[in-house]
Amino acid sequence: MNYKITVIPGDGIGPEIVREAKKVMDKVGRVYGHSFGYTEVLMGGCSIDAYGIPLTEEALETARRSDAVLLGAVGGDVGNSRWYDVAPNLRPEAGLLAIRKGLGLFANIRPAYLYRELEGACPLKKEIIGDGFDMVIMRELTGGLYFGDRYTREVDGVMTAVDTLTYNEKEIRRIAVKGFEIARKRRRKVTSVDKANVLDSSRLWRRVVEEVAKEYPEVELTHMLVDNCAMQLVMNPGQFDVILTENMFGDILSDEASMITGSIGMLSSASMNESRFGLYEPSHGSAPDIAGKDMANPIATILSAAMLLRYSCDLDQEADAIEKAVREVLAEGYRTGDIMSRGCEQVGTSSMGDLIAGKIGST
Ligand code: NAD
Repeated sequence: MNYKITVIPGDGIGPEIVREAKKVMDKVGRVYGHSFGYTEVLMGGCSIDAYGIPLTEEALETARRSDAVLLGAVGGDVGNSRWYDVAPNLRPEAGLLAIRKGLGLFANIRPAYLYRELEGACPLKKEIIGDGFDMVIMRELTGGLYFGDRYTREVDGVMTAVDTLTYNEKEIRRIAVKGFEIARKRRRKVTSVDKANVLDSSRLWRRVVEEVAKEYPEVELTHMLVDNCAMQLVMNPGQFDVILTENMFGDILSDEASMITGSIGMLSSASMNESRFGLYEPSHGSAPDIAGKDMANPIATILSAAMLLRYSCDLDQEADAIEKAVREVLAEGYRTGDIMSRGCEQVGTSSMGDLIAGKIGST
């Protein structure tokens, strides 16, 4: 099969890590008989330098016409870059919001997986880690508190600020369907997280999630209050498979989940629309402090490419092969500087990409 991929290297370490992800995808293509056609576009600071804005309509249109988007990262050194002496809507990160909105990406998927080899970096005690954890946070990305009406004004002589949290049943249903679809491909467990003891929006959330669950009898659904979920993540993370939740709860819980893996350079993410289309990117930023030094860990981007194959191209076997290759390279003791530990061999960005690509199709 031929797949059209829009590639957005972005700024900082973006071009270096995306190069390694393409290297691995190309190896997958050769081994499994697929071809990936890449169209590169600018976004972020490099687009500001070239066109004066962080994302052009042409770049967005290219992304729309492709099967999926692979993104590195955007942004510069915030305290020390000309890109930040302008209005917020002209800064590099505005490109991210524009592309998410322009492509209708409402479902954010962030896996949190503990690699046995990196257990030392996990801040949890050994007895809590147990057999490890492997979960996905499915966060609604375009509704709720962050997008509701807001104002700050004087009411009865007192300064008052109001933010509104709105969800309709359509918005809840479409993210719930995504959550159950993903769970069906995993261990078939959904934990829907809300605050139904207090919030009306959560009570509607719970009702709609239960309706959707009826269409997925093979998937087990449980409900959990968000405050309990925040505790359970650090008390018994192994219990979770797919955590399904709204925008703000997901923002907070996904950061908590990524912290307990201990290594930001390993975490992939996807943002999807109603179809199979998605934008895939590492969870970390553009790391300007190490850009151009062959020091960046490319694994989060390589794992994002695996998600791209799984969710946008339906290539499960190929995605499995990439994930297995990453585990094998770690098991052999190779590490980039950010995940280095005693007794391991430190390698650069490009060598790590070579090692992982080398494993694809080797067994
Ligand atoms: P960051 O994630 O870029 O870096 C935080 C720290 O982690 C740095 O010390 C960095 O060197 C290290 N790090 C990050 N990724 C790494 C990797 N792959 N390998 C090894 N080390 C890695 O966060 P920051 O410093 O807060 O932000 C830098 C820039 O990135 C800012 O302009 C910010 O706005 C932008 N940003 C972009 C995105 C995105 O494109 N989605 C996300 C977050 C931040």
